[in-house]
Amino acid sequence: MDRETSILELKGVGEKTRRLFEKLDIRTVGELLSHYPRDYELFEEPVKIAQAAPGKVCAVYALVTGMPNVRRVRSLQILNVNISDETGTMQLTFFNMPFLKKVLKPGGYYLFRGTVLSRGNAKRMEQPKIYQAEEYRRQTGRLLPRYSLTKGLTNQAVQKAVRQALSLCDPEEEFYPRAMLDTFDLMPEREAVETIHFPADRSSLLRARQRLVFDEFFAFLYLLRINRQAGEGLENHFRMFETADTVRFLERLPFSLTKAQSKVWQEIRNDMGGACCMNRLIQGDVGSGKTILAVLALLMTAANGYQGALMAPTEVLAVQHFETISGYVEKYGICFRPVLLVGSMTAGEKREAYEKIASGEANLIIGTHALIQDKVQYRSLALVVTDEQHRFGVRQRENLARKGEAPHILVMSATPIPRTLAIILYGDLHISVVDELPQGRLPVKNCVVNTSYRPTAYRFIAGQVAQGRQVYVICPQVEEGEMEDLENVVDYAEKLRSALPPDIQVAYLHGRMRASDKNRIMNEFAAHSIDVLVSTTVIEVGINVPNATVMMVENAERFGLAQLHQLRGRVGRGEHQSYCIFVSAKEDRETMERLQILNRSNDGFQIAAEDLRLRGPGELFGVRQSGDFAFRVGDIYTDADVLKRAADAIDSLLDRDRDLALPEHGALKRRLAQQAANTVDFRTI
Ligand code: ADP
Ligand code: MG
Repeated sequence: MDRETSILELKGVGEKTRRLFEKLDIRTVGELLSHYPRDYELFEEPVKIAQAAPGKVCAVYALVTGMPNVRRVRSLQILNVNISDETGTMQLTFFNMPFLKKVLKPGGYYLFRGTVLSRGNAKRMEQPKIYQAEEYRRQTGRLLPRYSLTKGLTNQAVQKAVRQALSLCDPEEEFYPRAMLDTFDLMPEREAVETIHFPADRSSLLRARQRLVFDEFFAFLYLLRINRQAGEGLENHFRMFETADTVRFLERLPFSLTKAQSKVWQEIRNDMGGACCMNRLIQGDVGSGKTILAVLALLMTAANGYQGALMAPTEVLAVQHFETISGYVEKYGICFRPVLLVGSMTAGEKREAYEKIASGEANLIIGTHALIQDKVQYRSLALVVTDEQHRFGVRQRENLARKGEAPHILVMSATPIPRTLAIILYGDLHISVVDELPQGRLPVKNCVVNTSYRPTAYRFIAGQVAQGRQVYVICPQVEEGEMEDLENVVDYAEKLRSALPPDIQVAYLHGRMRASDKNRIMNEFAAHSIDVLVSTTVIEVGINVPNATVMMVENAERFGLAQLHQLRGRVGRGEHQSYCIFVSAKEDRETMERLQILNRSNDGFQIAAEDLRLRGPGELFGVRQSGDFAFRVGDIYTDADVLKRAADAIDSLLDRDRDLALPEHGALKRRLAQQAANTVDFRTI
């Protein structure tokens, strides 16, 4: 059996189970083995009741001290029972499990494991798992994998299939040369895969994970290196010179550029007028004013008689850019003839756009990745700007570059990445930094609160709406039940409708809606026919509605700080004071400390750095920091040190053997080619 074998060959996997696995994109044994656990369950040593800390999962070994008591509340049967040990007592609550009345005998000892809750001094658990002492002892200290699942497929079933696959599937050859494994202290691949599924302990799990993260980064950086080699020193076929158009536009704008913006604008002009093709990243915190720089570069392009394209990661954002820029054309009479191209347009509308692009009638094309489809033929594409570039794959950018005679490339990103990491992650680009916010912005006021604060928050929201402002509320998931007890957009919107005065318009938005519906909702919000928008993080990128002054984030503990900072960037864009309310459903010290960083700082770069320091490189579980870089295992913040080592490894390898022609690099070369051909493009979501 090898990695290509169908999972149907595994015992216990029939047609029905196969279909369930297919929903998780698992068809072959190899794909099953690459389905790494989402996290692990640790069966910790039991503690005394007095030591059981509220908010934490604990196991207690205790005596049942009275008869279980069952009552009915509507359709719910609630069973309460008291337990105690020599240090204290605790109340347990079970829902719809009346049979426990016969199981839990007064005077009996059992092991109960669950999240400890508290009210005043009293401690409680809801729905704890019940074990016999001996049964629990056998599991103590072990890490059991928990996989992402789909309805009908249990964790148990996945574990069983993975175990079988590991014992039946032949190991592949190790692809790194021996010397590299030694130098970078890497666990062999097969061992790493086995360990990531069934770790013996925490330290081997860490090492296994490190190996897999290293692989991911290595493959990504290799692709970047190839890209850089291809892009370096490309001749500039579109040498441009500044015209009166940009100068006049700048004079008419109601504001002048900040020093940081002026410096970057100079860098762009130098690039576009220079001997080599531009390949530049503009990195700047949310609200630092990157869009105007893109507009200037595009305007210079149009004024020189060429076409420019502006590509955004979502339709919503593309439409917004189109409207902003069309507004500039009207107001300032600049020489753009813009056209919009997004997936949700009708075939007829698209055809019309294609024609305008091919004939050169349009000199500015704004859209989503619809811009890089083969159907789109440009007449003279000289500049491509991608907004929030991290959402685009390295290869998508390549495709676009191929559309013309190597156009200039300008990418914009608000992902706060410390410079040392940016140099590695964007190794194929020159970097400009906009490190200054426009003047006169009122800093956003923040608070980090628990869920009991909600009524106050709703009153505050109603007050802001009464003053004519608008509000975002973010929930981590779309519908109930994808993950336990997280707030979801659909139900939350309903809840808000009844909690807020009836004249307040509440709507919701999430990534699974049709693109045209998303656009409609976003446009209605921008036009202020919606007051409160409940959304998943789809609005995290780039949206500009200056009238929105409140950003409330539910389950803030589930998000990375960088992501929360991005969300916060959606408010504080206009003249009014803005507010951010981070609601945490967890109240333990670490969570609160982490979230307090946002409270203390408004500087994305600093937040990233502090988060990195606080989390430490060994941190395994919990939130991902960078939804932006779609690494499956690795996280650019948490695994910054592995990223640096992978970069060193690539450098020393390619310095010695640029084309990987040496025989000892054969396996590696094959592996990288395979990956480049059929896998993830790491900078996409
Ligand atoms: P981001 O860098 O997050 O993309 P935007 O480009 O959307 O930020 O800019 C945010 C807001 O700031 C916009 O409304 C824009 O018009 C405004 N802005 C940009 N530059 C300046 C400036 N130099 N002075 C004042 N306002 C500015
Ligand atoms: Mg932007």
